[in-house]
Amino acid sequence: MNTPYRCLATDAPQIADWLKNRGGILLWPSVNLSNLHTSWSTPAHDSDGKPVGKPNWQAAREPGRHITDPADVEVSTPKEVERLKIKLRVSSSGLYIKLTDASAEKLRARKEYWREKTGASVFHTFAHEREGLSDTAIIWADTAVVPLTEWLKANPVKIIECGGCSHWHRVDYHGDCRNDAERFADPEDAAKRLGRPVVEVDAAGTVHPDPFLESQKEKPQPKKEP
Ligand SMILES: [Zn+2]
Repeated sequence: MNTPYRCLATDAPQIADWLKNRGGILLWPSVNLSNLHTSWSTPAHDSDGKPVGKPNWQAAREPGRHITDPADVEVSTPKEVERLKIKLRVSSSGLYIKLTDASAEKLRARKEYWREKTGASVFHTFAHEREGLSDTAIIWADTAVVPLTEWLKANPVKIIECGGCSHWHRVDYHGDCRNDAERFADPEDAAKRLGRPVVEVDAAGTVHPDPFLESQKEKPQPKKEP
C-alpha cells in the first residue's frame, strides 16, 4: 500500500473536489536544493480538462505521484500543544533571520518530547509576533488523522432549498441561481454530483433532521394518570 497523502482539514474539501472532478491530485517534488523538503499539490487537470503543469520554478518538471484513489488520502487536524519563546539571529550571510543555536536546540527537544508523548508526528510554525529578535514558535501534534472518506462523512456539505428557484444550493454559494454547477434537483442529486455527503439546513442554519428534536422524539413520554 502507498504511504497515504496527508492534507490539512482546511484543504480537504478542495482535495476531495480534485479527486472527483479534476482527475486526481499531482504531487510535485522540489528540485530546489535549498528547499528539498517541500512539495506541492495540484489537480491533474484544470476546469477545462487541460493538464496542469508544474506549479512553480522550484518544482520538478514531472509530478512524482498521481493520486486518484480517495483511500490514499488522510486528513489531519493538528492540535496546538505548546508555545515557546525563541530567540533569533541574523544568518552569517546576513540574508535571513534564523533561530539561535540555543533556541533551535530547545525547539528540537520540545518537539521530540511531544512526539514521544503523543505518538503523533509533530511540527512547528511561527506566531509571527516578532519583537526585535524574539518570536514565538507554536508546536503542533497531528493527533487527529482520519481517512479522507471518514472526514467527509463527518463534515457533510450544507445545502439549502432555494426560495427563488426551488432547487438546492450549497449554503456557502451566493451566486446566480442559473449556474447549473451550483444548482441541484434535490439532496440526492447534490450528494452525487458533489461526490460528498450532504446535510440539509434551513434558513436559520438548523440541520435537518434536527438532532435535538430527533432525540426529544425518541424520549418516552410520561404516561398520563387516568
Ligand atoms: Zn436558487
